[in-house]
Amino acid sequence: MIVVDPGFEIQDALDQASLVIRLEACGRICYKSEEKITKDSAMPFVKKIAEHGHNSVMEMAVVTLGVQCSAEQFDELLALEPKYFFMDRRGDEVLITGSVRSFRELYGRAAKTAVVEAMVAFQVNKHPYLFEGVWDGGSGQDISDIQVRKLAIAEVEKLPPELVAKHRFCGVMFTVNRAVTHEIVRHRPCSYLQESQRYCRYSQDKFGNQVTFVKPMFYDEGTEEYALWQQAMEDTEKIYLKLLESSTPQAARTVLPNSCKTEIIVYCNLEEWKHIFKLRTSPAAEPSMREVMIPLAEELTGRYPDVLN
Ligand SMILES: Cc1cc2nc3c(=O)[nH]c(=O)nc-3n(C[C@H](O)[C@H](O)[C@H](O)COP(=O)(O)OP(=O)(O)OC[C@H]3O[C@@H](n4cnc5c(N)ncnc54)[C@H](O)[C@@H]3O)c2cc1C
Repeated sequence: MIVVDPGFEIQDALDQASLVIRLEACGRICYKSEEKITKDSAMPFVKKIAEHGHNSVMEMAVVTLGVQCSAEQFDELLALEPKYFFMDRRGDEVLITGSVRSFRELYGRAAKTAVVEAMVAFQVNKHPYLFEGVWDGGSGQDISDIQVRKLAIAEVEKLPPELVAKHRFCGVMFTVNRAVTHEIVRHRPCSYLQESQRYCRYSQDKFGNQVTFVKPMFYDEGTEEYALWQQAMEDTEKIYLKLLESSTPQAARTVLPNSCKTEIIVYCNLEEWKHIFKLRTSPAAEPSMREVMIPLAEELTGRYPDVLN
């Protein structure tokens, strides 16, 4: 068995990458197939994910559009009750932030809406592979009075703090035990992708032919309690590997414990991170959760003091 420390990584590099590269990097965490990433792999991966309807992968990249339209045109958009978007009027522009998934689903059901047609004209031409099969043609109405542009992250970060809170999304990859992820996923406004125990076969070479566990923070190495924990993990691993000889990972995993190491990407805006930090760094929170959330809160608050303080 392998024992690792818990940790986290803010996905800075992926924020600077293109949408498909971001989606592929996040999507592959489920299958732990990061070794398959090449300079040409992102587009076919995302295409396959879209075909298979693994829609939660499509939540892992957001876009902020600035749309100049009339009040009536904006009202027409609002009447659709677009789901999972953040929208704010700012001067003569409406800021619209949503994930690739939320745009795909909006485009799929609102073809005759002027603002939607204008966003499609702007976005679908740029990223046809992300929206293939979603858009079945507009009404042909004149949309030349609507202006659409994309805001870069640097521009979003220069907005007033209350708008940064809503429109700046941050992804964090945690390496923690399964008890911690079970609690994290209770935060509903976030998007998640997690290493799949149904799919991963830990007897494979790429996993070192063994199960990885997260070091328990409750027991110090060298104590009787730690020895008992270690014994339990070793016994469990033996049984899991034996079961894998005759059954699938999804069957064998039923014996795996909370201490199993898992990777999870949590993606949400800063407003939600602020809420998570309030709940998950408090003395009432689970200690293994606080172990990762306190340093993460310190780091993100250092970057966005006006938003997170
Ligand atoms: C110390 C601690 C102990 C806990 N113990 C337990 C326990 O024993 N058992 C248990 O089941 N859970 C427990 N939980 C989980 C807890 O009940 C919440 O499910 C979890 O913390 C998510 O927080 P949330 O509901 O405030 O907000 P999130 O899901 O993060 O949502 C953020 C905000 O979005 C809004 N929102 C999201 N969804 C809705 C909705 N459907 N309706 C209205 N508003 C919505 C709310 O304004 C909310 O504040 C515990 C959590 C903590 C921190």
